[in-house]
Amino acid sequence: MANPKTTDTALWVPAAEAEPRPTTVPGRLVQVWTRQFPYENLTYLWPEAAGVEPQVGLRVVVPLRNRRVTGYVVDPQATPLDRPGVRYKPVDLVLDPQPLCPPTLVRLLRWAADYYLQPLGAYLHLAIPPGLHALHRAEVRITPAGLQAAAEWAAGARQRRLPLWARVLLYVAEARKATLPKVRRAVGSRSLHAAVQYLRARGWVEVRERLHQRAKVPKTTVVHLVRPPADGERVPGAYRDILTYLTQAGRDVLLEELAEQVRDAESSGADPQVAQRRLRDRLRRMVARGWIQVYVQYHPRPIVWDAPVGSEAPVVLNDEQRAVLESLQKYVEAGTFHAGVLYGVTGSGKTEVYLRLIEAAVRRGKTALVLMPEIALIPAVTQRFRRQFGDLLAVLHSEMTPAQRTSEWWRIRTGEARIVLGARSAIFAPLEDVGVLVVDEEQDGSYRQDELPVYNAREVALARARFENAVALLVTATPSVETYAHARQGTYGLYRLTQRAVPGAVLPEVVLVDMRDAYARGSHPFFSPLLMTSLRETLDRGETAIVLINRRGYAPFVQCRACGHVLTCSQCSIHMVLHKKAGVLRCHYCDATEPVPKRCPVCERPYLIATGIGTERVQALLEREFPDVRVGVLDRDTLSRPRELFRLLGDFYEGRVQVLVGTQMVAKGHHFPRVTLVGVLEADTSTGLPDFRSHERLFQLITQVVGRSGRADRPGRAIIQTYRPEHYAIRYACQHDYEGFFREELAYRQRFQYPPFTSIVLLTVVHPEHALARQYAQTLTELLTERSIPQTQVHGPVQPLLWRLQGKYRYHVLIRTTDRRAVRQALRDVLGRLPFRRDFLRVQVDPYELV
Ligand SMILES: [Zn+2]
Ligand SMILES: [Zn+2]
Repeated sequence: MANPKTTDTALWVPAAEAEPRPTTVPGRLVQVWTRQFPYENLTYLWPEAAGVEPQVGLRVVVPLRNRRVTGYVVDPQATPLDRPGVRYKPVDLVLDPQPLCPPTLVRLLRWAADYYLQPLGAYLHLAIPPGLHALHRAEVRITPAGLQAAAEWAAGARQRRLPLWARVLLYVAEARKATLPKVRRAVGSRSLHAAVQYLRARGWVEVRERLHQRAKVPKTTVVHLVRPPADGERVPGAYRDILTYLTQAGRDVLLEELAEQVRDAESSGADPQVAQRRLRDRLRRMVARGWIQVYVQYHPRPIVWDAPVGSEAPVVLNDEQRAVLESLQKYVEAGTFHAGVLYGVTGSGKTEVYLRLIEAAVRRGKTALVLMPEIALIPAVTQRFRRQFGDLLAVLHSEMTPAQRTSEWWRIRTGEARIVLGARSAIFAPLEDVGVLVVDEEQDGSYRQDELPVYNAREVALARARFENAVALLVTATPSVETYAHARQGTYGLYRLTQRAVPGAVLPEVVLVDMRDAYARGSHPFFSPLLMTSLRETLDRGETAIVLINRRGYAPFVQCRACGHVLTCSQCSIHMVLHKKAGVLRCHYCDATEPVPKRCPVCERPYLIATGIGTERVQALLEREFPDVRVGVLDRDTLSRPRELFRLLGDFYEGRVQVLVGTQMVAKGHHFPRVTLVGVLEADTSTGLPDFRSHERLFQLITQVVGRSGRADRPGRAIIQTYRPEHYAIRYACQHDYEGFFREELAYRQRFQYPPFTSIVLLTVVHPEHALARQYAQTLTELLTERSIPQTQVHGPVQPLLWRLQGKYRYHVLIRTTDRRAVRQALRDVLGRLPFRRDFLRVQVDPYELV
């Protein structure tokens, strides 16, 4: 596989110092997406001199207002705008001679943009690592005339208050050169545009534009001949040697090779550094004339992971596992698309099966991709993958540094790494010839990204498998309702693993505690006597326990006992959560924090109390109850400190921490050998704001956390505390009865016409003004209703529970349909002619939640 090239941005000279002049000269037009206007593609003139054909996915630098930004070509054949006398600015620089993403990936990104009704550019941007996102920086430099002017000003300036431009001049004169943000900080002014223009007009400063690609990855530089000088074009002697050499070579030439050549031609012996600088200066001018282009190619090395790659005795598959593997392997061998659900209880050896499937694919020269829902799970799995695949493995997730991600991305792109393990966005890894795509814990909601660009990695994996004629394997112990419905209808193959891989291991015993009774009998409000006794016994035996409370922080409410006021976020329609250790109130929806007030903001009396429990409070209560025991907390707050997180997981694994309190993160996939007790607090209220998926989330949460208890030779126990023991999700989860739950849940979904019986598109209007939010949602509802889309209902405007978020008002328009295509068509039309700005509208195809 070829190693793609990208422009050496260090040698770039902007087309003109001043604003490029717009033109009406006819030429090819392209549409470009930029992050600055994510919902609006801009039209530019294609620079024919670049010698590159416009293609979807090419990165380009374009002028935008008074600066330059990087964008992506999203339409290589744009039609002229329907406005008389419109002028187009030319694209300044084409960053890559070929799109960075391979063609099959570009095709997938186009599919996603079309399916989720999101701008294509946003997916193109997402698909390359942040280390390759070009950063633009303007640098202000002083000129000799500027130095003189500054000296005169400084002499007489002491007494007077200086105008902004003079402060800028004095600062730049002293610093000689500085980036614009630096100048901004130094003079303490946000808007420098007028001042800098003034200084430029007088010739006192120059402004140079610089483009950086942050990632430090080993690279080589090659020089490419775009076109030889035209006949009659004047070529200074200094460039002639270079051009001759490039023409004669008839290929791209390494910079070192060229340097040697030129050094030989000119008398050698000069200081090599001086020679190199001179060569780079020449190249820069030749780039500006459009004769050559200078590219870099990255040569990444595998990341050395800290932990040793131990060896483990090969696992022998049982009959059931072998049968599943063989049937899946047939599809890989035939190279045909297949979607399968690998469904098996925790510990039934699903990982072993898909690892072998991947091995089979790689043996046939294919590549593979494995997605995990939680970044915290990846390190442990990495060891196992590394043992099997060595340097063929690449890891991609957002907790890695930009340099690491870029390096791994290039290893995948060049074909050096053939197996990718990662979180959600790794679904867009630049693999080619994909044979197997695994989505582990397919039911997990974190595969869904709700910000721009919206996608669900599970659905994208299925689409990618279809494009690549690959096997998509959805792996789960508790399939999502939609996935299982597809499997039962035969749309997906269903592969079941019914035995726990370790012989003799049994499912944990589950006890349901009705907290209404417990509370009536005067027990502790948060812990039942049974849970307390069991905890004590477990710890006395030297075993460990997990306590699930699906809420981080100390207490979910702070309420005034005098007037009943509950402290809410000033930006959102939701209560603030007390984080006692950090000493703040925090909004879990916008992350705003406030100091904890001493008095009620309404009645001003000092009777504020914290009610309810979160992870922090449970930890405190348990530490008081069991003074000799170490209690750790695993939640999103811990996740934000990766080092601490890995230490905690290690400590719990080794038994140095005996009780792990956590949110749903403790339920997911971790394998802790000593855990024999799981306690669930407030099971019924633990899945967030209610919506059509809350029963499913509840069932999955309980099933998963119960599965953490007891492994190998030690029997496990789970104690579920709830105020609603009759709830079917809780009841079936306690009986380990997925089928029972599925039947009842499916009936509920059918009754209320939710997925899988319909598809949903959720439109959310978001606006700082309440009346406008409602009005736009009303307009949107009318526009959609008057189209009378077949087999489709439009409900709206609806005020959601979370009617205010981050200071903006929200209204929903909910579309339910059995004809997705018709809805997409109608929506594309409506979105193209929206009577208000597209920025005020969030479009979510197949939303995970409706809150
Ligand atoms: Zn009060
Ligand atoms: Zn908030």
